Parts: sequence; structure tokens; C-alpha cells
Amino acid sequence: MGRGPDLRLAVAAVPDGDARSGWPGGKAAQRAALGSALGARSGDVLSSCQRAYREYHVGEDAALVRRDPTWKLIDLAVGAIARWLQTGQAADAGVRSEIASLGRSAAQQHSVPGAVPATGPARPGAADGSRTGAGGRSQEAGVVGRQLSVAMFTKLNFWWSDATCSVLEEEGCRLGIDADVVREATKMVMRSSQASLVDMAARYDAELQALQDHLAHLARHDPLTGLANRAVLLDRLERSLARLARHAEGLAVVFIDVDNFKAINDVLGHAVGDAVLQETADRLTSEVRPEDLVARIGGDEFVVLFEDLARPGEEGLRLAERLRTRTGAPMSVGEEQLTLTISAGVAAVRGPGRTTEEVLAEADSAMYRVKRAGRNRVALVELGSGGGPARFAMAGGLHTAVERGELRVVYQPLWDARTRGVAGFEALVRWEHPERGTIMPREFVPMAEESGVIWSIGSWVLREACRQSVAWAGTSPTGPRIAVNVSGRQLVEPAFVDEVAGALASSGLPAGRLVLEATESVLLVEQDASREVCAALAAMGVHLSIDDFGTGYASLAYLQRLPVDQVKLDREFVQDVAAGDDMRVMGAVVALAHDLGIEVAAEGVETEEELAVVRALGCDVMQGFLLGRPVPAEAMEAAIGRPRSAS
Ligand code: C2E
Ligand code: CA
Ligand code: CA
Repeated sequence: MGRGPDLRLAVAAVPDGDARSGWPGGKAAQRAALGSALGARSGDVLSSCQRAYREYHVGEDAALVRRDPTWKLIDLAVGAIARWLQTGQAADAGVRSEIASLGRSAAQQHSVPGAVPATGPARPGAADGSRTGAGGRSQEAGVVGRQLSVAMFTKLNFWWSDATCSVLEEEGCRLGIDADVVREATKMVMRSSQASLVDMAARYDAELQALQDHLAHLARHDPLTGLANRAVLLDRLERSLARLARHAEGLAVVFIDVDNFKAINDVLGHAVGDAVLQETADRLTSEVRPEDLVARIGGDEFVVLFEDLARPGEEGLRLAERLRTRTGAPMSVGEEQLTLTISAGVAAVRGPGRTTEEVLAEADSAMYRVKRAGRNRVALVELGSGGGPARFAMAGGLHTAVERGELRVVYQPLWDARTRGVAGFEALVRWEHPERGTIMPREFVPMAEESGVIWSIGSWVLREACRQSVAWAGTSPTGPRIAVNVSGRQLVEPAFVDEVAGALASSGLPAGRLVLEATESVLLVEQDASREVCAALAAMGVHLSIDDFGTGYASLAYLQRLPVDQVKLDREFVQDVAAGDDMRVMGAVVALAHDLGIEVAAEGVETEEELAVVRALGCDVMQGFLLGRPVPAEAMEAAIGRPRSAS
């Protein structure tokens, strides 16, 4: 194929006067003759297109140009026009499907996102909505070997139709075919060409839309795991945080980092690393509710957002622990058998005023603490409401509350279940704010923990409580105990040991009368950091009690690893049992604690029923409004007399 000079020149060279009728068999025969003449010269159409193409793409590899499926498509389209002239029939199914598959292979060769495969059969006989072999984006992509350009497609289409019409006119002249037959044929070529332009434009629009959709998806999803990405997370978290102003529920953000992921990647290769991330993503997703958000925000960093949590701290911790367990199950990736561990930081938020950056940074740094402490754990940070001038004003005042003498300690009696006498007192801090009056610890302790003021507050309460205990009962080792609440911040500081030693020394209180109460979440997640501090305190003879026991996912098993002397059953527990919950479970917990040599206290006893339950459970120590409210030291003396040795 591909003979002769430029077709346009060839057409110009044809003498005008040669066109003359004189065909037997009329127009049908003329059409057929024209068709077979066109079919015989399809090579000329092709080489004309290729020549034009090369003029536009000077210096391109000719072999590459020849190899392209587009030329085959043009060849088929010319053939289809020729056949239509000869038989009056559109291209048959075989040709149509060949054209379609060529179109598709051209499309696949250039995997442009969102590309719509060419599926249209060549039907040059149809005037509208028809698809010609020269139409479609996939071909164009095939020709240029890179992304579609509408201009290039349009040019190709013009070259093709121009060259075909030239051949038709030239052959019509040569064969003496009636002008109206030739015109009819060229009109069909033009229609096919126009239809293919319209078709291309429609495809182009569809592809543009698909591309936009794809980009929108890419902008919001991680391509490897299909999880939401950082942008989505920030969006959603911002909205959730804004909603906290109107809802009592809180939320928890769990920041997860796969331990030693770099080693997996380095040793087993990136393919395994990718598969591990995908599997981890699947596991995280399967472990949460559909309304929770799982996002991948970095290489091996995932964030899960849990909304509408009544107790964001405890629930967040429990949920994070569940994620840790799930991801820690052995996984097989190809040939490899792996067991991952993760480190997770939970930021629990209640109340308005927190920013997304702040919450993520807190969760991140909690996670980082786990990493430093040896990985494969969960750490919690609880964030109260933040921001707002009122809060900052209060936080500012908190700094000077100690030196201004605005703090006060109230005492609540603890009762010995066996002797029914006073076993000790719990010291509870109050802030007598000059303008706002008495502020309860739930309101300012979380804030103090954040700002670090808890350290000076805690020290002051500890010294004050020790002093009061000695004032009441002297320095006898058998005097009533004094229980002081300590926050996680204190318990992870090695300096806290000296702090306690100092308070004991300056007051003269025997170590055995001091009980430090810490919540189970603090002890559990800060286990590594607090273990040494706890051990040193235990060595001094100070007692350790686990506060709010039973609210989290605590198991007694970990108690064995800490020098714990007492657990304090949470008020909720006592209430639930009194309200009809199965007592055997709680009874078993109490029995197990006793087996481990751990004393059991019950707090929040408000009713006679609850008192009966607590007794039936076998608790050793009882506390609650029914038995005595927290009151200032003087009021305590008035109520139960100057407490002396009770045991
Ligand atoms: P907690 O350690 O669980 O203390 C018991 C809380 O329950 C106290 O609230 C007490 O007044 C209250 N309570 C006692 N009996 C009953 C009862 O029968 N029914 C009900 N509904 N409540 C009862 P308070 O004084 O508001 O203290 C709240 C929390 O603040 C404490 O919970 C403790 O976690 C923390 N806290 C108090 N003082 C200090 C402190 O000096 N340092 C630190 N770090 N935290 C403190
Ligand atoms: Ca307590
Ligand atoms: Ca408690």
C-alpha cells in the first residue's frame, strides 16, 4: 500500500472534462464501482494520513508510527465505507468487533485514568450517532503514544476524511461516475467523520468526568488501602469536634503506628510491606462500626475516629486495645507468616474548644510515649474542653491557686467492713475560686494535668493530707490511713518518689499509712513508665490502690505485675450489681483479688441496697455518701470525733 504522490496534488492534476456518464446498470452499479475503487486505494488514504502525521511529528520513530493500531483502524474504516458503497450495508459484526477490540487495546496501551474503552462498531452507513473506525479517544492515544489530545484526534479525523474524499473524487473522475453519486459518497464520509467527532467529544466529556471523579477519589483516599486519607480525617474530625459543643458524648482519636514496619519493608521487601499495610487496613476496618472512620495518614500510620462515646477515655482505650489485639493476630502474606504489633495513642475529647491539630498532636505524642516505653501498647490522654477565654482565664488562675492558698482538701471516711469502724480517709481537693466559688476536681484536674500544674497541686495535697493525718492520729503506724489521689503525670516521674519521701519525712507520717490511688487506665497504659516509680514507692512501704476499678477492661492478671495492695470498685459497678446485674461475676473478681492478697474497697455507696451488695460481695473497705460525705477536716472532727487508731 501507500503508492503515489500526495493525494491533494493528485486530485488537482485530474483533468476536469473527464467526468462523463454512460454507465449501464445505473447508480447502484456506479456506487459499487466507486466502492471497489476506494477499497483498492485504501493504502493511499493511509499513507496520506501517515505523511500528514509525520509532518506534525517530525523526528518520531517511524516504526512506532507504523505499529500503531490507529492505522489499522483507518484501514478498517475506509474498508467499511467502500463496502457500504458496494453493498449498501453497514460493516458486519466481525469488522465492528475488530474495530472495537483495536480501540480497546489502544486504550489499554495508554492507561490513562478513567479512560473509556472504545466499543463503538464502525457503521459508516448511519448518519447520526455512528462510530467510525477513525473515531474515539483510544486511537488517538494510540497514535501519539501519550495522552489524548483533542486537537490531534480532530486532525486525524480531517486527514482521514480529506484523503478518502480526494480518492473518491479522483476515482469518480477517472471512472466517469455521475457527480451526484460521488457527492453522495463524499457526503457519507463527511457524515461519518462528523459523527465520529461528535462521538469523540461525547467520550471526551465522559472521560473528563471519570477523570474528575477519579481525581476526587484520589484526593480523599489512600490508593494502597482504599482508606480515607488525611484530608478526609481532618475534615471529619473538625466537624466532630464542632459537634461536641452540643452533645454530651465525647470522641476518641486513636493514633496507630505499626511497630518496626521499616524492618518489614527492608527485610521482606516493599511488596510484603504493602500487603501488610493492606491487611492491617482490612483488620482495622473490620473491627470498627461502619460509622467510625479509619484513615491512613502516612506510611504505616493509621488513625481511627470514634464518635459518640459516653465515656471517651475508657471506651477509647478499650477500643484501641481491641484494635491492638486484632492487628496482633498472626497474618500470612504470600509465603511469609508475620505477627505485627502496633503502638497506639488515644486522645479522648469531651467538650468543645479543641482543634483538630491539637487533638491529633496529643494522640500522636501519646503514641510516641508508647514507642519510647517499648511499643505494643496503648496510651491514653484525656482532653477536657479547650480554648475559649474563660478556660484560659481559669487555667491562668490555676497556676497561682497553690501560692494564693486557694486550694483546700476535704476528707471522706473509709469504713472497715469487718469492724465497722473508720479505716481511713480519702483526701479530695477543692479549689476555692475567688469569683467562681468552689470548683470541683473533675473541672480543673484534667486542665491541671495538661498544663503540668498538677505537679504542684498534687504535691501540696499530698503534704496537706499527710499533715492532717498526723494531726488527727499522730505517727502511730496503726493509725487510720490517708488515701491521696495521684494523676498519671505524677506517677511516671521518678522525682515523684522523692516527693512522697519528702512529704512523709516532713509530716512524720509512717509510710504504711499512706495509700496512693491511681486509676486503672493510668497504671495500665503507663505500665512501663510507672512500674519503677510504683516499685520504689512499694519498697518504701507506701500502699497502692487502683481507683475506679472495673470501668475499663481491666483484668486482674496485670495486677500481679504491679505492687498493688487494693482495688477500689467503681461506683458504677456497685450500682449495676444493686440494680440486678449478675453478682457472681463481681463476686469472682473479689474472690480472685483476695486470692492475690489484694484488698477490695467499694466506693459510691449511696443506698442501703448498695451497702448490702457491697457486704455480700465481701468487700473489705466501704465508702460513699450513705456512710459519710467529703467534708473539711474540722467538720470531720465534729462528725466522728477526733479519729484515733481504728484497728
Ligand atoms: P475519685 O478518686 O473516684 O473520688 C471519689 C469521688 O466520688 C469524689 O468526687 C467523691 O466526692 C465522690 N463520691 C464519694 N462518695 C460518693 C457517693 O456515694 N456517690 C457519689 N455520686 N459520689 C461519691 P470528687 O471529690 O468530686 O472528686 C472527683 C475526682 O477528682 C476523684 O475521683 C479523683 O479522681 C479526682 N481528684 C480529687 N482530688 C484529687 C487530687 O488531689 N489529685 C488528683 N490527681 N485527683 C483528684
Ligand atoms: Ca480516689
Ligand atoms: Ca473512684
